This record gives sequence, C-alpha cells and structure tokens, in this order.
Amino acid sequence: MQKPLPFDAETVRRIVEKYPTPFYLYDEQGMRETARGLNAAFAWCPGFREYFAVKALPNPYVLELLMDEGLGADCSSLAELELAERVGLTGEDLMFTSNNTQAHEYRKAAALGAIINLDDLSHIEYLKEHVGLPDLLCFRYNPGSAREGNVIIGKPEEAKYGFTEAQLFEGYSTLKAAGVKRFGLHTMVASNELNGDFFVETARMVFDLAVRIYQQLGIRMEFVNLGGGIGIPYRPEQKAVDLQAVGQGVKRVYDAMIAGTALDPLKVMMENGRMITGPHGFLVTTAIHHKHIYRDYVGVDACMSNLMRPGMYGAYHHISVLGKENAPHDRIVDVVGSLCENNDKFAINRPLPTVERGDLLVIHDAGAHGHAMGFQYNGKLRCAELLMKPDGSVKLIRRAETHADYFATLDFSGLACSPKR
Ligand SMILES: *Cc1c(COP(=O)(O)O)cnc(C)c1O
Repeated sequence: MQKPLPFDAETVRRIVEKYPTPFYLYDEQGMRETARGLNAAFAWCPGFREYFAVKALPNPYVLELLMDEGLGADCSSLAELELAERVGLTGEDLMFTSNNTQAHEYRKAAALGAIINLDDLSHIEYLKEHVGLPDLLCFRYNPGSAREGNVIIGKPEEAKYGFTEAQLFEGYSTLKAAGVKRFGLHTMVASNELNGDFFVETARMVFDLAVRIYQQLGIRMEFVNLGGGIGIPYRPEQKAVDLQAVGQGVKRVYDAMIAGTALDPLKVMMENGRMITGPHGFLVTTAIHHKHIYRDYVGVDACMSNLMRPGMYGAYHHISVLGKENAPHDRIVDVVGSLCENNDKFAINRPLPTVERGDLLVIHDAGAHGHAMGFQYNGKLRCAELLMKPDGSVKLIRRAETHADYFATLDFSGLACSPKR
C-alpha cells in the first residue's frame, strides 16, 4: 500500500541539488489545513483553543504559521516559552504544562502571563514561594486506575504526571482560600490515540469533575484542557481520526452535562502536537550502501539521531523510494543508519522496490517528535529543516549543524597536546 506525498520526485531532486540530504521537509499547506480542520470541528464551542505542543516541532516558522491559524502554544520548558515569545505569542496564548518544574521556568511563564498548569499539589506552595500565585491557575489531573492509558503514554497510575482526584479537591480549595480567581482543569491520558471516542470519554471525565468541583467547592471552572494525543495514521492501512466526529461527540457530552448549567460557557482546549504537524513532515535521505549478510540492508545517510521514533518505540514510519512508488515492492530489507547501535533502523523487514545507491528515500510522518528528538550520539549532527510554502517555494528554516557546532562546547586548552594544535 502507498501513502501519498505532497510533492513529486522532480521537486525533491531539485531541492537536493541545493540542500544536501538528510533534511526534513515540511508542508506548510498541509499543516494549515489540519489546524483549520481541528478548529472547524470545535467551532460550536465558544472559546475553543488548540495550543500546539511546541516540543513536537519547535521551529519559529512553524509556530508563526500555526499562530496565523489561531493556535496558541503549549510549552513545558524555558526554551519553549522563549521560542513562543519570540514569534509573538504571549499571555493566554501560552499554556505552560510542565512537570518537575524549576523556579526560573515558572518565573518566565508568569512574566509572560502564560496559563500555568501545575503538575503537583506541592507546586502550589513552590509557586507561591518563588513567584507568587497568579489570578488564573490550572491543575493537571491523573485519573490513575480510573482510566486506561495507551501504549505510548502507558497506564495513568504508572505515569509521573498530575494530581490524584483527592489532591485536586484539596488544591482547588487551597487556591480559593489564597485568593486565586480563575481556574482551569487539564488532563492528558493518551498519546497517538487513533480512536476518536477516547477523547470524547476524556471530555466526559473532566466535565464530570468540573461539575463535582463546582458542587463541592463552589469553584466555577473557566476551561477544561483535554490535552494532546490525537494520533495519526503512520501505517498506510490506518485511518486518520475523524475530527468532526470528535468535535460532535464532545458537543453531545457538553450539551448533556454542561449546557444550561452554572458552568456554561465552559471553554474547551486541547494541546495536540503530533496530529497538527506529524503527517506534514518528511525526512529525506539518500541510499548510500547495500549489505547482504543474514539479512539485506539498505544504508542511508540519515540515522536514528535524526529520527529516533523507530529505534525508541519500534514505531512504524512509511518509506517511499522516490520515483519507484509504483515499482514492485519485492525486496525485503532493513533500512539502517550508521550509529553503532543495532536499533538504528528506520524499517525492519520492509518490502521495498530495489533500492540503488543514490536513490532518495522519503520517511513519512516525521513532522512531530522527529527533528525535535534529535541528538548527537556517535558525533552525528542534527540535519536541516526546510519549509515548503503553499506557492511551492522552499525556505531553510533551520540550518544543519556543522562539525564546528559539535566542537563548540568542548575545551581542548588544558590538554597536553594543546600547544601543538
Ligand atoms: C507531549 C505532550 C503533548 C502533545 O502530545 P501529542 O501526542 O504530540 O499530541 C501535549 N501535552 C503535554 C502535556 C505533553 O506532554
């Protein structure tokens, strides 16, 4: 089975003449359309907002185009906050959902006026001591055994995140007593979940909590944040989540539980990363070697340091051999990088057409948690990121690292050999 590409082989060959492989190529039009689709699915909900999870693709050009589609930014570190700030996102355009957070990070979030989402009961005191309590605060709920997680995020009761239910009640009453005026409730219980009903159930769970918190504490939640985690069809036979159905499903639960009550209007928010940019990013790499031992290998010039999801999670990423999409896929190969790590494989036992040295391979669905997870193990360098604009032009939005970058943090001056150099 095939997966479509938003560009043809000729276009990619022209790009490769200017920018050597490996590189990431992002499709701006696709990202914009996906963002619009999510906004349209929740158009019924006054104040709906998607905060793009910056960690999925932390690039200012991407943040800017998503901001242009009305998205905010979900940050979890100082650097992510600064990235968002520098493209012009401030105040409640920013959600700060962090964990094990340091005071300087809270200070930055507070200075920007971001919505601070606390991960633990003890952080109320910590925030108060180091920064002071803002008017608006949100808590992250971990439902524990009340809810099944999924493969990537694991079981909620084994996850380090969030408050227990009892802690939520305690925390909100502490905030109320301390004079906090505005309240939000957050949860995130899935990652890469393709079953849209899962998110409707998450909405039901947090609406129910918001109702009980109102009844018991007299606290009116201003928003609920359903987290991120909407999955994408990495495999060609999988189907994308029907966003319209998710939006309508959440609306039905809203109408049944919230509409017409004292909690109405209650804003619904999300903080997806993967579904917004994942399908619209491609890692382009060149085949450089073949090897035939107990198995057949195709060696490419990218490696796991460019995209670690297959090695880390055993994740499937579809691969197209440019110009050979319609050739018979009658070779079974492992597609490998050059790390001295045997899990440095982009594909295992994958049927592909005959790959020749110099062929361009496009690794699909790498637009989220792809480049961002890059590392320098084995002295490998992070590659460039390119953005294809709706008019077909291509812009370099992050240069490739150089060997000078790699050596920049090292110090040779105190070594016996240094005078000679
Ligand atoms: C990673 C993360 C997200 C985004 O997850 P996706 O699977 O990319 O949608 C959102 N919120 C939090 C708190 C996260 O840690």
